[in-house]
Amino acid sequence: MIRTAIFAMSLSASLAASTGPLTIAHRGASGYLPEHTLPAKGLAHGQGADFLEQDLVLSADNVPVVLHDIHIDTVSDVARRFPERKRSDGRFYAIDFTVVELKQLRLSERFQVKTGRAVFPKRFPVGEGQFQVVTLEEELQFVRGLNRSTGRNAGIYPELKQPSWHRAEGKDLSAAVLPLLRTYGYDQAGSACFVQCFELSEIQRIRRDFAWQGRMVLLIESDDTGADGTDYRKLCTAEGLKGLAPWVNGIGPPMGRVLAWSATGQPIALPLTTQAHEAGLLVHPYTVRSDDLPAGCLSLEDLHHGLFQSAKVDGVFTDFPDLTRSWLQQRR
Ligand code: CA
Repeated sequence: MIRTAIFAMSLSASLAASTGPLTIAHRGASGYLPEHTLPAKGLAHGQGADFLEQDLVLSADNVPVVLHDIHIDTVSDVARRFPERKRSDGRFYAIDFTVVELKQLRLSERFQVKTGRAVFPKRFPVGEGQFQVVTLEEELQFVRGLNRSTGRNAGIYPELKQPSWHRAEGKDLSAAVLPLLRTYGYDQAGSACFVQCFELSEIQRIRRDFAWQGRMVLLIESDDTGADGTDYRKLCTAEGLKGLAPWVNGIGPPMGRVLAWSATGQPIALPLTTQAHEAGLLVHPYTVRSDDLPAGCLSLEDLHHGLFQSAKVDGVFTDFPDLTRSWLQQRR
């Protein structure tokens, strides 16, 4: 019995089997269902995503929960349910609520906080459906269960959201997340897991202080400098990328750093992917959205072609795992 349990765990946490570029489900199959809900993750798994993304913030009682932002007012009914709990800036923060309280919220398709209008108008209707905030542990169990019942291993791709902001709030996000990943067998170099973060200092701390052996990806912003002082302009040079290689297995840049578009809508590969590959780093850009193409890009077909055949990236974050995966399968 115990042996079976250990086997099941090592099966769920072992390297995902897919070869070729990875389909990383961005917040789940978020093109179809509200982001970071279990239905969105289940759909992404069923659509064949190689990895499922988890954005992580802490609750008031230090539980890692799967939410994209430190604010919860753009994806839930918190303003209606707990109107008195907003901060002086008028916003509602996950960190001010216990898990029991967060569980009372109804999650929704993302909307503009001022107007209530959908960010992506053609997606799942705002305010419809019954969706609940998910803790990291619940999601790890969900993925483990699906990997077991389908026999297909999808990996996880957890992001530590704003660790320096959490620290300023008196909380240590990494210290809450990493032991849980370890418990579920995601802490080895061969585990089907990439830990991602925009803050280089936190990645370095995780390697040093947590002796983390698992794979990690430094996310890159469009701006030159991150909120924590990470100097993306300097890091995105041949020299900077070589200096990153001892710390991370790859980078997660915005698509605009790997591809440009000609006046006639042709993709033009920028040097970043080649430079990263020369430094031994993977490149997983964000975010493929069929309903929000980059300026100058005329179709999703062109976008996939540009990313995989012109820039030759190693995987993409996509809101539409089915579309990305079917494009890749047709060309394998
Ligand atoms: Ca993310």
